[in-house]
Amino acid sequence: MEQYNVEQTIQDFVAKIEARNPNEPEFLQAVKEVAVTVIPFILSKKEYNGMKLLERMAEPERVIIFRVPWVDDKGEIQVNRGFRIQMNSAIGPYKGGLRFHPTVNLSVLKFLAFEQVFKNSLTTLPMGGGKGGADFDPNGKSDMEIMRFCQAFMTELCKHIGPETDVPAGDIGVGAREIGYLFGQYKKIRNEFTGVLTGKGLAYGGSLIRPEATGFGVVYFAEQMLKTIGQDLKGKVATVSGFGNVAWGVVKKLDQLGAKVVTISGPDGYIYDKDGISGEKIDYLLEFRASGNNRAEDYAKKFPSAEFHAGKRPWEVKCDIAFPCATQNELHLEDAKKLVDNGVICVTEAANMPSTLDAINHFLSNKILFSPGKASNAGGVATSGLEMTQNSIRLNWSSEEVDAKLKEIMVGIHKACRDYGKEEDGYVNYVKGANIAGFVKVAEAMLAQGVV
Ligand code: GLU
Repeated sequence: MEQYNVEQTIQDFVAKIEARNPNEPEFLQAVKEVAVTVIPFILSKKEYNGMKLLERMAEPERVIIFRVPWVDDKGEIQVNRGFRIQMNSAIGPYKGGLRFHPTVNLSVLKFLAFEQVFKNSLTTLPMGGGKGGADFDPNGKSDMEIMRFCQAFMTELCKHIGPETDVPAGDIGVGAREIGYLFGQYKKIRNEFTGVLTGKGLAYGGSLIRPEATGFGVVYFAEQMLKTIGQDLKGKVATVSGFGNVAWGVVKKLDQLGAKVVTISGPDGYIYDKDGISGEKIDYLLEFRASGNNRAEDYAKKFPSAEFHAGKRPWEVKCDIAFPCATQNELHLEDAKKLVDNGVICVTEAANMPSTLDAINHFLSNKILFSPGKASNAGGVATSGLEMTQNSIRLNWSSEEVDAKLKEIMVGIHKACRDYGKEEDGYVNYVKGANIAGFVKVAEAMLAQGVV
């Protein structure tokens, strides 16, 4: 296939998706990144030609949007909007988290659901892709308000999910506490004790290592990337953004493996801790998150070795390895340029789509080891898959067993990305590798199942 035809096919595809999904910038960004790498592959495979596989994958199987009315502590009625995007069920029940954040809208959840399809396929476990949530802001809400909101949300969601249909989990704003309330309401309404959610507490069917899994998996993936250039994590200076569950797991594992983490960040700015974030400082991250406080500045007040940089992102700090762990589009072209100019060798995405498209292109053209979130943060949902297995066989595995399986899965994802992403000069384009490797399994299943 001539280069011209490949470019034209990509452009035509993107134009169609744009026309069909106006005002959905995040969704378009996620689809474009995949289209650029996967369409040349599709065109090179006779059996995929004309099957509209990517067109079908870019259209959710089902979108559910619902009202979530609830009563706050003052007795006032509040109304939020709830969503569940059931994106693709070709390889298993829909699977993916719930996000409670004021920025939640259809575009954000469709991008997350689209990414989830590829990510879940990469894990090799039988999980389709979905995502959901609400434009509810948990910040400043009392525990009872959170509970009432979760109950109101699940009162509708329970009609659309189930252990063989759709298995939600946590994401930003949804942690163990919220999953507990959601599970309780599902069980009460449906009168079923099933593995309908993952990220559950250990007392009622949760898996060991699930809280740490996303962050640990990210670091296992970074280790694999560094190994390809004969390096490891020992003594490396790391920058991390965010302060939530993913950042916590990343910092904890980096510290265990001998790297020195010097930053974390919140919506107010970042902190630079020249002595490194380890020991009681890692425990403080947990305390800090549980308190519902999101001011990174408070870390600097507590630990005098740290400086606070108001309104700035950590990417200006010189480092060897970088881990964006906060949220989508938190790392822009100018940040990528600073990281590269300062000598970064490896950027491992831990959040979902934290880098903009031009930032990604800058890393790739400078031949930096760069992995997209859908590959490197797949350890979270992979361990959710392991939680589903434990629920199905009604057994609990030890931390060591779960951690070993998680590591094996991350090593496998790295290998799949290498196999499909290796370029002529030996450089591994992990974006291309992840997109194609994730695509193939879903595409094969869709082809086998006919036009449904
Ligand atoms: N929200 C996480 C993710 O982005 C986890 C999803 C899950 O465990 O189902 O992959």
